[in-house]
Amino acid sequence: MTHEERNLNRREFIRLGAAGVAAASVGDLSGLAAEAVGGGKLPKRRYGRTGLEISRLVGAADWSRSIIPLAVASGVNYWHKAQKWTAETMPEALKQQPRESYYLEVVVDRVGGDHNHGRIDEEQHYQFVKESVKNSGLGYYDVFKFHFGYHSIKEAKTNHGMVRAFERLKREGLVRHLALSQHHYNNLGGDMAWEILGYLAEHSAYEAGQFFYTYGDRKELQELLELAGRKDFGTIAMKTMGGVGRAAQDPKFQKLLAESRFKGSTPAAAMVRWLGANSNLSAAVVSMKSFGEFQENVGAAMRLAMGPHDRSALGLLSSYNKGLTCLLCSQCVSRCPEHIGIADVFRYERYARDYQDLSRARREYAALTKNGTSCVGCGDCVDSCPHEIDVAAKLKEVHRLLG
Ligand code: SF4
Ligand code: SF4
Repeated sequence: MTHEERNLNRREFIRLGAAGVAAASVGDLSGLAAEAVGGGKLPKRRYGRTGLEISRLVGAADWSRSIIPLAVASGVNYWHKAQKWTAETMPEALKQQPRESYYLEVVVDRVGGDHNHGRIDEEQHYQFVKESVKNSGLGYYDVFKFHFGYHSIKEAKTNHGMVRAFERLKREGLVRHLALSQHHYNNLGGDMAWEILGYLAEHSAYEAGQFFYTYGDRKELQELLELAGRKDFGTIAMKTMGGVGRAAQDPKFQKLLAESRFKGSTPAAAMVRWLGANSNLSAAVVSMKSFGEFQENVGAAMRLAMGPHDRSALGLLSSYNKGLTCLLCSQCVSRCPEHIGIADVFRYERYARDYQDLSRARREYAALTKNGTSCVGCGDCVDSCPHEIDVAAKLKEVHRLLG
């Protein structure tokens, strides 16, 4: 598709306006969606032992209302955080489809505190999902997902409250499959995400897991994906686009990207293709707030073969991120005697700088029990970051931005 045709599509999108797009039928939008991303539907992959065939890019209920219908028309058939939609706010684009043609996930948080300090409570999780099903008017959710996951393998082995809540709901026909999104908990003296997921993939009722994963990530995540492939454990990558949003706003980066060795690629498109090239990864969830991001990401996922220009674009992004963007590996966290959730602090900085969502970043930062001001400057984290971030200096900088 030529640049001119892309602009025509964008003009059509703007002419309809966000409300017009949100209200239009998928049939009406399918031509616009197909033109925007070069035609076709997103390829699907098996979501591990759930047996569900899900689109390589999955959607989230917090995406822009005007992007959701285009995504549905392009074949996005799995929706994360769907408990945010009630019968009234459920996008028309989904209501118009047969219920069996798409998958909705309810995410279930700990209660009595956040993901670090809250507790697992079978009865409250059971009631929460039951109420969400009622409010959605849908009859059931396809996937029950434990949000943020276990603190340690020990907790996963001994605390069965989340699994029991799922089993009760499943018996009543309100949910069908069990999954979790797993964070690292070395700030609490717990385990890393890949350790917990590795245990669950082999020994538990969980059928799939979601976790941070990006280009240049730790080898343990690559090993986890290989294990997931062998055990038929579904996998979704999240927080894949570190630095992409800020690079898109940086004139110096954009000037470099205009060089011929990157022609036809961008960091976001290259990342989508790189993720898709791993056959053990079922899908990725990638934030999409604008028509341009939809066009770039979904367009890339339609044609997955990586080319040399994609490799160059990922190399450029990696260099750009050095010393600047936290990739959430949590390696520095084990060194900190103050037990600061450094990766949480820097994840919120990414919401501000990469997603341009300063209010969400400030809201989440304000809820931390330890923040950038908890750093005592002991220096124990010096040289711990594989991406050359000066952790103590960045904590101060992020506090100025979000505090
Ligand atoms: S310098 Fe700050 S962040 Fe680094 S280990 Fe010490 S207290 Fe933790
Ligand atoms: S600051 Fe560096 S070591 Fe710490 S979580 Fe981020 S990328 Fe990993």
